[in-house]
Amino acid sequence: MKNAIGWACFGLLLTAVAMPAVAQTIYPINRAQILTGANFDLKVEFAGTPAPADIKVTINGEDAAKALGKAPEIIANEDGFPQTAYWIRGAHLDTAGTFTVEASAGSARASVAWDVFATPAGRKARNVILFIGDGMSIAHRTAARILSKGIAEGRYGGELAIDDMPYMALVSTAGTDSVITDSANSMTAYTTGHKSCVNALGVYCAKNFRALAHPRVETIAELAKRKLGLAVGVVTNTEIEDATPAGMVAHTRLRSDYEDIVRMFYAVQPDVIMGGGAAPFLPKRWDPVSYIDKFKEAGYAFAANATELKAEAAKPETRKLLGLFNDGNMDGALDRKFLKKGTVSKFPDQPDLTEEVRTALQMLSRNDKGFVLMVESGLIDKYSHSLDWERAVYDTIMLDDAVQVAKDFAASRDDTLIIVVPDHGHPISLVGTYDDEAGSTLREKLQTYAAAQFPNYAPADREGYPPSVDVSRRLALVFAAYPDYCDAGKPNLPGPAELGKVPKLPKEEYCAPGSGLRVGNLPLTARAGVHSGDDVVLTATGPGAEVFHGHIDNTMVFRAMATALGLGN
Ligand SMILES: [Zn+2]
Repeated sequence: MKNAIGWACFGLLLTAVAMPAVAQTIYPINRAQILTGANFDLKVEFAGTPAPADIKVTINGEDAAKALGKAPEIIANEDGFPQTAYWIRGAHLDTAGTFTVEASAGSARASVAWDVFATPAGRKARNVILFIGDGMSIAHRTAARILSKGIAEGRYGGELAIDDMPYMALVSTAGTDSVITDSANSMTAYTTGHKSCVNALGVYCAKNFRALAHPRVETIAELAKRKLGLAVGVVTNTEIEDATPAGMVAHTRLRSDYEDIVRMFYAVQPDVIMGGGAAPFLPKRWDPVSYIDKFKEAGYAFAANATELKAEAAKPETRKLLGLFNDGNMDGALDRKFLKKGTVSKFPDQPDLTEEVRTALQMLSRNDKGFVLMVESGLIDKYSHSLDWERAVYDTIMLDDAVQVAKDFAASRDDTLIIVVPDHGHPISLVGTYDDEAGSTLREKLQTYAAAQFPNYAPADREGYPPSVDVSRRLALVFAAYPDYCDAGKPNLPGPAELGKVPKLPKEEYCAPGSGLRVGNLPLTARAGVHSGDDVVLTATGPGAEVFHGHIDNTMVFRAMATALGLGN
């Protein structure tokens, strides 16, 4: 219905040069859902250089400057583009309702409608814990359940913690520019409630040259600190600057802006920051500032490994902690606990995600106003890009263990909303088993239907991990989109593939007998698998979780968290 009001013509600007009176573009975009009191930048892009006196922007008929209480800045030829920009930065609206924004310059005009929503008085939840399984798809969950709980006569030996929750919804993940999202704009939807485009964090993708100049929207971490004084935690096992954790604090069109993202972490100062990615914090030739030192000066305890983390957390006075446990991404569960590959020999004392979560909860609960904690199991995605499902599934099991830690924390209280959600899918499916006794080629080994039987992984240990993934009848998880590669049909024991690439097998094994050459179906430039646009499964428990059912848009996750915390009051 709101579609009928607005007809913002995104993308038309490029063709506008030769055409007079083309509609301009307005940010936030049509059908944006905006929390009352949350900060956003209003930007209107007019084609060409209309006279400032001809530019008119209204909100529900009232001059925008008056409606938002701020004078606009009008910039002709912004960033050298043939456009004039109208900005009101740091705006907010305090009442709920439909707001129609109309912009005109001469005969060119456009309008969008915003849905500004309030949250009910009071707070349902004192704490919110948002778990992100990066790229976690249905097949990852199913395989994690088979490996960690076992399956016999068609029944599982138990439930995963991520599945055993009272509320569930299908979540759509598309961004403003594409049916396929990346972790940056999908995290922006979760942390701000606004849709954005591939590679963008906490901004709309306007026409700006500089990555930091695009129109900003406030994140839940900023809102929780500014409005309620809550503690905030950001915990991952990827680089802390990677898109998902960065989505809590960052405002940039370019997710690869790691040094700016470190500065943004410092500006927002989440109370607990844990992950990999130490390198961008260190002094460089062109920037001699040590951000580790700056955080220490700001009162943060620092931990570089699991032992130091334990020691710092044990001190009752520790309320702020920066933990950086690897120069790059941390190692996943299969390498850390079993194979000792990846960077484990260089970083032998990295904490598990469960230890990070346990410590974060211990410290964040020292804030008597409550907290917002984001936890990412981030390598599920990276291993899936490498078509390495065993490593991805071990990190799904690790996520499950971390969720159990949070459920145990919440069990003794009724004030903690827990949400578990992937940010997007991968095109991965369980189609049967590979049975080494069934033949010598991969196609002979692949067993389907009745021939597939059940895999022969040994029973899982206390944490839910089978002692070995290298068994004679193993799951056949296959990917639907891939570059040219050699499929060994067995776990990649020599170590994880280079980031963003499929495994490069040693020459003697490369397409050795028993493996299958896969002629890729992705464009020839592809070096790894890609995300899927399939819906993902969200599960939730605790106060405020009841809004999750049926099919929802990914922006609803922000709205549910904001509502549970009463952030719009
Ligand atoms: Zn990815």
